[in-house]
Amino acid sequence: MATAVTKRWKTKLGFLFIQEDECKGCNFCIEFCPKKVLERSEQFNAKGYYPPIVIDAEACVNCTFCELVCPDFAIWSEKLSPETVREGDNHG
Ligand code: SF4
Ligand code: SF4
Repeated sequence: MATAVTKRWKTKLGFLFIQEDECKGCNFCIEFCPKKVLERSEQFNAKGYYPPIVIDAEACVNCTFCELVCPDFAIWSEKLSPETVREGDNHG
């Protein structure tokens, strides 16, 4: 059985996570993101839906709108303290 993979992107203020195989392809996260961080993938997931992909992680402000509108908990953001983000930078 395939293991669900959580993808992670570093943003200016923390991280953005997407669990592609949980996505039902509703596009809410793409439409509601105020910063146009997301786009629809051209690759379908394990369920046959097209999940979001991150096209501009730098623009993400970790507002959590994508997380709030996702009916499947497939996308979420984690805001970190500036110190932690800087430490994250140091470790790539
Ligand atoms: S946290 Fe906000 S800015 Fe970042 S991807 Fe989600 S909706 Fe867009
Ligand atoms: S809101 Fe959730 S289910 Fe809908 S496209 Fe985005 S990640 Fe997928």
